[in-house]
Amino acid sequence: MLAASDPRSREAATTVPVYGQLPFVPKSADGCDILTMDNRRILDLYGGHAVAALGYGHPHLERAINEQNRTLLFQSNAVALDIRASAAEKLIDVAPDNLRRVFFVNSGAEANENALRMACVATGRSKILAITHGFHGRTAAAAAVTWNSEKWYGFANKPFEVDFIARDDCEAAMQMIDDAVAAVIVEPVQGVAGAYDLSGDFLTTLREQTSKHGALLIADEVQSGIGRCGQFFAVQAHGIAPDIITSAKALGGGIPCGAILCGEELAMKFGPGDLGTTFGGGPIAAAAIVAVLETIENENLLANVRAREAQIRSSCVIGPVTKIQGKGLLLGLVCNRPALEVRDALLEQDILTGTSADSRVVRILAPLVLTEEHVVRLAKSLASITP
Ligand code: PLP
Repeated sequence: MLAASDPRSREAATTVPVYGQLPFVPKSADGCDILTMDNRRILDLYGGHAVAALGYGHPHLERAINEQNRTLLFQSNAVALDIRASAAEKLIDVAPDNLRRVFFVNSGAEANENALRMACVATGRSKILAITHGFHGRTAAAAAVTWNSEKWYGFANKPFEVDFIARDDCEAAMQMIDDAVAAVIVEPVQGVAGAYDLSGDFLTTLREQTSKHGALLIADEVQSGIGRCGQFFAVQAHGIAPDIITSAKALGGGIPCGAILCGEELAMKFGPGDLGTTFGGGPIAAAAIVAVLETIENENLLANVRAREAQIRSSCVIGPVTKIQGKGLLLGLVCNRPALEVRDALLEQDILTGTSADSRVVRILAPLVLTEEHVVRLAKSLASITP
């Protein structure tokens, strides 16, 4: 029985009861660790749903946010800002070469919502294809292209016609993508599905078929982007240039923000009033974006992500883990028992991981600053769980 003063009791009494919460209450965090109210130090390999790219208290991010807060807390897109221009320039700098324009928003769902709107407007078509097991968010259009969202969708109708291509089925992609399709939306590595990395052949087929039929390819890199998969964006590992990339989560390292990246020609189809947001591209978010991207470059974090992936792959198929899928630090530990049991056993040893829509997959969404010692600790803890 929790005390009435415990935040868990107070949230349970005051908020809409839609979250199953973890059995600890964070007090503070530093590096890759969360310090709890009852004085545990938990290694965070989940990063608040893949948000904490730089871990906690990173000095460059902290300084950028604090300085921006002191100089200019907020102005909307009604005025141009030096820091917003810098954030756009920096994002374009790290994105595939064909993506030269940015539209800032506040979240992953909002990024996808606007990307889908842009595709329908630009093509004049009203059919969207998504991929089975994909997740794209909770708003009306983003949820419409999310696999199995019927359980909670809630609206009477979807805003456009939707169909799903079976993942990794190149034949199905060739048959289904035709001249009626406005866009195909795809997560190159399906996060919520359990860090399932789609094959290069499948992604290439999507690119070829959408180009052939005048449809747009939208890469939802809300979870896989910003260095998590060992490149700034996961599509870069396959040499694929989508028409739109959507980004959020790690983009601001914890400051809420999102972005749509698109090509010049697509951007020029839109004019004043066609898209909009109050908070998107706000100065604190913009300062955070610049700091996150600079830190990934300055600290060589893409190489660190690739090294930690290799270390996890070579040392963590142990105990209950039979196989590892995914890319970089978006990894799925495929287990020989319910993932929830493994997640709980690791948490007892003060290591936080996540579950996924696949009941046998434990998800790793660790900060990109993860060290070799952290992985050694994970491997040891997994080894201590009965195989
Ligand atoms: N797209 C992907 C791939 C996601 O993983 C998520 C969230 O988990 C979203 C979109 C939605 O992002 P948000 O929760 O910021 O709206």
